[in-house]
Amino acid sequence: MLDTYVKTLATENDFRGLGLFYKEIGDYLIILKSDLDEVLVEIRTGLRDEIMPAGVGEKLSLIAEDETINDCLIKKASIMLTFGLDGLSSEEVGNYISDIVDVLNEHLIPAYYECELCKETNLDSETNIIKINNRILRAHNTCYEYLLNKVNEKEEMPEGNYVSGIFGGLIFGALGTIPWILAGLFGWIISLLGMVIGLSANYGYNRFGGKQGKSKASILISITVVMVILASFTTSTFRIAEDLSSQGTGNIGLLDSIRVTIYVLLNNSSFGTAFMSNTGLGVVFALMGSWRVIKENSGQAAIRNVQAEILE
Ligand SMILES: [Zn+2]
Repeated sequence: MLDTYVKTLATENDFRGLGLFYKEIGDYLIILKSDLDEVLVEIRTGLRDEIMPAGVGEKLSLIAEDETINDCLIKKASIMLTFGLDGLSSEEVGNYISDIVDVLNEHLIPAYYECELCKETNLDSETNIIKINNRILRAHNTCYEYLLNKVNEKEEMPEGNYVSGIFGGLIFGALGTIPWILAGLFGWIISLLGMVIGLSANYGYNRFGGKQGKSKASILISITVVMVILASFTTSTFRIAEDLSSQGTGNIGLLDSIRVTIYVLLNNSSFGTAFMSNTGLGVVFALMGSWRVIKENSGQAAIRNVQAEILE
């Protein structure tokens, strides 16, 4: 019912498209569609960060006084007009649209004219009106092709899985602790090296085909935190073992060194505090250094679901 009504309104007002209708008046892009149980007309302008002038708002509130209209309001760079099934005749819809376009022109509101993919306003090269996930927009042909390529690339990529990702993250996370531990052997505590651990774990995760899903970030954060703690603990163990042997206790075994380290950490408060602050700082650096990379890759799953088509 609603769809038939919207279709009639579209045909009689020279809209183009199927299901999601659009047309341009001047360079304003007008979109007509059914939205739940309402008809939605969107008049998209090229307004960016500026605010719609009060004069436009006044005109809209006049239109909104029509009882058959549910809403007529400004939403970001768009003007939204909604009404119910059979609320307005095709002619009335056309008149309201041209009224709104007139008031936009009157207030010199910039038209909708930028490529939404590269955000450039220079549309001298060829453009198309395209539909991406139910949103109509105008974009350069080249930008659209670039997007399509990216989508195809992602679709051809195997989806990956978490188990192999965790495996790779652990291996490379452990390898990433080497600089930290080496520095510790020379007596330096360089928390900044936590970054290497985070980046390395991320590399291993991707290298082993880890799934680029929602849980990736929390998996990598956990691996990184554990690895930083391990690196810090290993460094402490070396230092304590070194201390002990320099005090003439001779070389003690690995297990004993670990036992002593845990004992010292728990019972020597200044050693414990130093350990905590070094490790904490290491974690902070690790996450700061790798967060951007982790997040960047995690988003790749989203592009897989992009549905894009050229309308004209
Ligand atoms: Zn572009």
